[in-house]
Amino acid sequence: MSNRSYPCEFCDTHLPQEKKRVTVSRQRKGKWFIFENVEALVCPNCGHRYFDAQVLEAMEQHIEHTPADARPIEGWAISLKG
Ligand SMILES: [Zn+2]
Repeated sequence: MSNRSYPCEFCDTHLPQEKKRVTVSRQRKGKWFIFENVEALVCPNCGHRYFDAQVLEAMEQHIEHTPADARPIEGWAISLKG
């Protein structure tokens, strides 16, 4: 994974993005998929997270084929609308 030197697309900061491990949630057909320890480059100013194409592809594949070591989770979905 390479460091990006170009500025954030979402804000005007010139601070370098920081390599971090983050938690990512994705929804597919009403089911949530939580990915832990995902490598990302995070903008220190606005918090936007950038993922490598191969990381996005890996998440996509794991949504299609849940890995054997995936842990089921419980949760509540709460809407603040209305
Ligand atoms: Zn930013």
